[in-house]
Amino acid sequence: MKLILLGAPGAGKGTVAKLLTKMDGSVQISTGDILRAAVAAGTELGKKAEAAMKAGDLVSDDLIMGIMGERLKEDDCKAGYLLDGFPRTIPQAEALKVLLANMGEELDCVVNIDVPREVILDRLTTRRTCSDCGEIYNVKSNPPKEEGKCDKCGGPVVQRDDETEEAISNRLDVYNEKTAPLAGFYENEGMLLTVDATSSDAVIDAIKAKLAS
Ligand code: AMP
Repeated sequence: MKLILLGAPGAGKGTVAKLLTKMDGSVQISTGDILRAAVAAGTELGKKAEAAMKAGDLVSDDLIMGIMGERLKEDDCKAGYLLDGFPRTIPQAEALKVLLANMGEELDCVVNIDVPREVILDRLTTRRTCSDCGEIYNVKSNPPKEEGKCDKCGGPVVQRDDETEEAISNRLDVYNEKTAPLAGFYENEGMLLTVDATSSDAVIDAIKAKLAS
């Protein structure tokens, strides 16, 4: 399947994407994961992105389109892809439309995961992430078996730099201003599926029903 997962930080895009990859071999593409890996490796891309990421601001559209233009051409995308955290602005959505048209590809749909702000704030402040493999944990509802250590790969499970209260609040403001308008954009394109759900399983069920219809 070829989907965009839209939703505020903490809406569950990454969790839903990971569950969907198990269904048909589609690959999860998270621009946030790609950027964090670049920052950790100290590459040119990482250096350009680091300050904006730490503050919870968006990285430039040009940088993101450069990454995605390359990424979508990789072989593993042939089985389908779940775009997690991209596009995040109207210019990115416009550029993606051109990119896909040039590649002769069409998305199945755009899933907008709508979760109340209080739930999101609570989730983000308690979220922990493996800095090696990106596996997501929650100190309250889903802690790693051994504190600070990833169950999957043994890597360090930490709080992300941009998951301080200040950066979270900025990320949510940036989301409302720059990314939330994408719901209207994709509604006009006739591709939007909005799911009001706080459980990943309910989101998966809604996506399955949509793809089967
Ligand atoms: P995420 O893991 O998706 O929450 O992304 C973490 C951070 O990476 C964001 O707060 C942005 O600074 C940056 N980022 C990720 N994806 C994008 C994107 N599509 N456009 C601009 N910045 C992005």
